[in-house]
Amino acid sequence: MNALRPVQVPRLALAPSDVDVAIVGAGAAGIAAARRCLAEGLTCTVLEARNRIGGRCVTVPVGGRPLDLGAHWLHAGDLNPLVALGRERGEPLVPAPRSGGLVVEGVLADEATARAQFDAFETAGAAIAEAAGLSEDPSIADVLPELGRWRQPVAATLALISGRPLDEVSAHDFPSEEFGDNWFAKGGYGAYLARLAEGLPIALGHPVDRIDWSGEGVSLEGPGGQVRARAAIVTVPIALLAEDRIRFAPALPEPARDAIAAFLPGTYEHVVLDWANSPFREADRLVKIVGPDSSYGLMTRIEGGPLHYFEIDHATAEALGRDASSLAAFTRDWLAARLGRDAVRGLAIPCVTDWVRDSWSRAAWAVARPGRAPDRRTLAEPIGERLWIAGEATSVRLWGTVGGAWEEGDAAALAAARRLKTSPADLPDLM
Ligand SMILES: Cc1cc2nc3c(=O)[nH]c(=O)nc-3n(C[C@H](O)[C@H](O)[C@H](O)COP(=O)(O)OP(=O)(O)OC[C@H]3O[C@@H](n4cnc5c(N)ncnc54)[C@H](O)[C@@H]3O)c2cc1C
Repeated sequence: MNALRPVQVPRLALAPSDVDVAIVGAGAAGIAAARRCLAEGLTCTVLEARNRIGGRCVTVPVGGRPLDLGAHWLHAGDLNPLVALGRERGEPLVPAPRSGGLVVEGVLADEATARAQFDAFETAGAAIAEAAGLSEDPSIADVLPELGRWRQPVAATLALISGRPLDEVSAHDFPSEEFGDNWFAKGGYGAYLARLAEGLPIALGHPVDRIDWSGEGVSLEGPGGQVRARAAIVTVPIALLAEDRIRFAPALPEPARDAIAAFLPGTYEHVVLDWANSPFREADRLVKIVGPDSSYGLMTRIEGGPLHYFEIDHATAEALGRDASSLAAFTRDWLAARLGRDAVRGLAIPCVTDWVRDSWSRAAWAVARPGRAPDRRTLAEPIGERLWIAGEATSVRLWGTVGGAWEEGDAAALAAARRLKTSPADLPDLM
């Protein structure tokens, strides 16, 4: 995945090695943090391990067309800061179709069947929302109603969008995600994000493996050299912090370490289908295909072209050893069994993503275990008044999304700016 060159490559400014704020990671959170630091009149440097920006939001050419390998949807248009900013900038944002499709045992569902499925999702949503109001935090599996024949397809969809099997997902955390009012960025979400990085001081190919915050400021170290700063914002995926891929000196305080352990690496992988003769004619539709004992989601004809996504959840990825050729063969056979051999005759699979094994992601997003929803806020607390952790995982209302990561990077940079502009006499005694 990392070998592909993105469709949009921003021109970057020189990244100085002695700055007010050092930012680790040039995904959505890191880009937002850098823009905010500069707007606040602070100097900053972004250190990015990969040879590209964007993190889990990147658009690459596939068969000559732009394709998002990670995030594609701008969720929650009324909350998502990247929808408001995109409108302001004149970015090519288009509303996502509100209705999807449903195929049950090979046949396009009639209105009554589609209605029954819709009602089952509503019933499940209401049960989860009710659980969110309880003082105990059960798992989604604990509160999912029976739902008859719809239980399996509903559970499969919820497991896919939460990133883990439902017994591992906090019911308190789940409803905070608002998926209504979705948008697409024509030409790719990653390309839009790359335009937002234009002119920023980002050093590519610069992994950070040690952060020393024992002195007055912060020193960030890695094979690319050392950067000194008055404060640092760490936007790397939480799964990497859980693996101790960055050593902190001194170690992070116990509440932060405990909060890092609250999360599980979520899975969401795209099997990309190049399928000009697919039976699905409409562009950008979500189609649920329900079989007798399993169901999967498709996104059809992305931007009107031949590419489709077949979406892989945690359990399926694990069962197939996260092996690209096994996942491709599984996808083809599963579709053939539901839609007929003829339907998949012209189907090619140019790419299968593997974000969970990608060494700079290790997860599609961070999933809060039952009982651990409040840890998102704990993670966002300033550490020693000079270290902040920010990214999709620290967002309460838009966790697991690019918009949430953006908002959190921006908020951390604002907090750092406030702290750096405060005179030392006004600071609390830390020791
Ligand atoms: C397949 C898939 C589909 C998704 N679909 C959607 C969607 O439709 N809509 C949506 O909003 N979200 C979606 N998401 C989630 C979304 O992509 C993420 O929530 C978001 O991109 C996270 O942004 P971030 O800045 O927090 O982290 P990242 O994008 O991961 O950025 C962190 C950066 O840190 C870098 N880094 C890591 N370690 C180091 C180090 N030691 N030193 C320096 N740099 C380092 C990484 O290379 C990366 O560039 C999807 C994710 C996946 C994988």
